[in-house]
Amino acid sequence: MSEIPKEACGHCGGTGGVDSGGSTPWGAPITLPCPACEIIALRAREIELAKTLILSAEKSSQLESENNSLRARVRELESGGVTTSDFLTPIERQRDQLEIENRRLKARVRDLEVERQ
Ligand SMILES: [Zn+2]
Repeated sequence: MSEIPKEACGHCGGTGGVDSGGSTPWGAPITLPCPACEIIALRAREIELAKTLILSAEKSSQLESENNSLRARVRELESGGVTTSDFLTPIERQRDQLEIENRRLKARVRDLEVERQ
C-alpha cells in the first residue's frame, strides 16, 4: 500500500501502526495495524475496481457497436448474394458460439424444470 501518501492518515500519522496500549513481557509497546490506513487502502481498492468496471463497460459497448456495424455490413453483402462466412470476425463467431451454447443451456434448464414438475 505504498501508493497511499503518508499524510493521508491522520490516525497513525503515516506510521501504519497504532499503540494497542499493551506491552510485551519484555516491555516493548505492542502496535496494531492502523484501522484508518486499512480503510484508506480499501477505499483505494474500491476506486480501482470502479475504474476497471467503467473501462470494461466502455470496452464492451465499443465492441457491441463494432459488432453491430459488422453485422449490418454482413447483411448488406448477403443481400447482394455474397457469401460472408469468411467476413465474420473471430469476436462475432465467438459470440455466435456463446449464443448457441446459451440456447443449449436454456433448453437443458427447461428440460430439467419439466422433469421436476
Ligand atoms: Zn493510519
